[in-house]
Amino acid sequence: MRQLLLVLSLCFLAACGKPVNQSYMEESGKVKVLSTTAMIDDLVAAVGGEEIDHLSLIVGDLDPHSYELVKGDDEKLARADLIFYNGLGLEHGASLSKHLDFHPEALPLGDILYRQNPDSFIVIEGQLDPHFWMDVALFAQTIDPIVAALSKKAPQYASLFKERGEVLKKEMMERDQSLLSKMQAIPAEKRYLVTSHDAFYYFAKRYLAAPEEKEWKNRFIAPEGLAPDGQMSILDIQAVSEFLCAHHIETVFPESNINQDALKKIAAICKEKGLDVKIAPAPLYGDTMGEKESYLEMMKHNGETLNHYLP
Ligand SMILES: [Zn+2]
Repeated sequence: MRQLLLVLSLCFLAACGKPVNQSYMEESGKVKVLSTTAMIDDLVAAVGGEEIDHLSLIVGDLDPHSYELVKGDDEKLARADLIFYNGLGLEHGASLSKHLDFHPEALPLGDILYRQNPDSFIVIEGQLDPHFWMDVALFAQTIDPIVAALSKKAPQYASLFKERGEVLKKEMMERDQSLLSKMQAIPAEKRYLVTSHDAFYYFAKRYLAAPEEKEWKNRFIAPEGLAPDGQMSILDIQAVSEFLCAHHIETVFPESNINQDALKKIAAICKEKGLDVKIAPAPLYGDTMGEKESYLEMMKHNGETLNHYLP
């Protein structure tokens, strides 16, 4: 009898705690919303709640820049009533970007905001920087287009989506302010950041530079460019090691989804120059949420890690 109860309670748990993935793949009658990145999916989940089925296409620590469709992705894309993606050139894997370009219900959230307010976005060497989720206040602006698109698909829940969107905006603005005060509490001469690739310009501009600081680009450097699948030259490595020496930086930060070879090379070059550079034991989350449960957790982790190792 006890065993039967155990089996029954396990079945009950399994039913209640059904992974979202599974319900997305089943016929539920709900609007099905696919997001390319876990960061976008997290916001969509907060706004859509139980009233939608949602799924992130790119999971774990997979690189969103170069992600190519794998077995099973076609079905996920085919089931989507609505797709949200980052845009600004982030998802440039050929098989995925082809789908996004031609899907009638695929919304590039970054491009939508960029058209409304281009000055909020960063251009690096003539290329739009796609990593705008690194500025929590800027990323919060995606909530309005998410609410609008969900409401169009399920108008009966429009007021609910709007209400949840407002709550989420408030939470994000609180996180933004707490990151800002945490980072600004670090002495200005210590607020220089080196990571694996160019994912942190928005972070540097919003949180590391002083308000209105014109030279905010000088707060951050990385050996690998806007997409970590690009080429890295000896000149890139040299520029980073010079940056470290110039600002007497002692810690560099690996990113959860990128190998540490370039940072190790840089640390070795610096050692030759007499500067002891350590690689922080806790990685930052740049392109992915990794195993973090939410976007806000990811940003909190980044803030706490920097707060611990930068000063
Ligand atoms: Zn990136």
